Amino acid sequence: MNPGIDDLPVRDELRGKSPYGAPQLDVPVRLNTNENPYPLPEPLVERITERVREAARDLNRYPDRDAVELRTALAAYLTRTGGHRVGVENVWAANGSNEVIQQLLQAFGGPGRTAIGFEPSYSMHALIARGTGTGWISGPRGEDFTIDLPAAEKAIAEHRPDVVFVTTPNNPTGNAVPAETVIALYDAAQAAKPSMVVVDEAYIEFSHGASLLPLLEGRPHLVVSRTMSKAFGAAGLRLGYLAAHPAVVDAVQLVRLPYHLSAITQVTALAALEHTDTLLKYVEQLKGERDRLVTELRAMGYEVTESDANFVQFGRFADSHAAWRRILDRGVLVRDNGVPGRLRVSAGTPAENDAFLDAVRDLKNEQE
Ligand code: PMP
Repeated sequence: MNPGIDDLPVRDELRGKSPYGAPQLDVPVRLNTNENPYPLPEPLVERITERVREAARDLNRYPDRDAVELRTALAAYLTRTGGHRVGVENVWAANGSNEVIQQLLQAFGGPGRTAIGFEPSYSMHALIARGTGTGWISGPRGEDFTIDLPAAEKAIAEHRPDVVFVTTPNNPTGNAVPAETVIALYDAAQAAKPSMVVVDEAYIEFSHGASLLPLLEGRPHLVVSRTMSKAFGAAGLRLGYLAAHPAVVDAVQLVRLPYHLSAITQVTALAALEHTDTLLKYVEQLKGERDRLVTELRAMGYEVTESDANFVQFGRFADSHAAWRRILDRGVLVRDNGVPGRLRVSAGTPAENDAFLDAVRDLKNEQE
């Protein structure tokens, strides 16, 4: 007999479920996982090599468990770009913001507790909730994919969740959440429980608007999570981080595995941070390309959700999966996130975006 997952004594809540699985297909143009399309610049590659070589000599030792040098550099980056002074004591880092979110749910969620997100949103919030035994509540979003504040406040008052997720800019829809909405959700969450409010700013560097870091002032239950996967073009590095009150940083240390952040990861992230200004220039280019995608898709007659991220949600399609297939047949991989009638495309290089626009122009012509 060849047992499958459901023949094993897995936890009940994992039965019949699928793992996170954006297709990793070998096609000419891959615009499906919101990666940065630009390889790291050569001087940065050199610097990483230099720092890794140095660190390699000490690999007989465990890494700095508290990643102090890296957290200090991340704090300086946030202070410089986020409009709010952040110190090392406010910052925590882990292997991707997915791990940051997992640590937050391990510390503030868990069995007998719940978390809420306003969907469609980043699907891993719900999946990590499940993995940590945290009950998941699917909160509402309006027809235009903005957070319907009265409905959201009602859901928070009714369910009294322990953790509230707000993704801004939101994935997969692309739109940002105004600061006033986050403040109102925070107040609702404090009145109901009080609970932790996690603002997932994975894409904030691509936004037309500012980071919500200044909201940390006087809000000890607020957490802002970030990543180097998108703006820093370093998805392969696996480095996510958070900014919050120092007590939150203490709390996640209760659940983090000892030495969770390898010495190689720490020095590589430090090297990338030394090249922040160069990397942020690519972000400016990508913002321009994102805006071009919005304009050109609209000109073709597609419905496009306002985007503050490095991707664009577009539609409508009678059958979005069939449309996804037909775009793939033209050598361009986009993402079907299961939002009815919609697909999502990540902003690539100008040539990749041209290939995508040609593919969807063909599709439009065939439909007409
Ligand atoms: N948050 C959001 C909203 C995301 O879209 C992603 C990745 N697609 C992440 C967090 C996780 O990113 P990482 O683990 O690479 O930091």
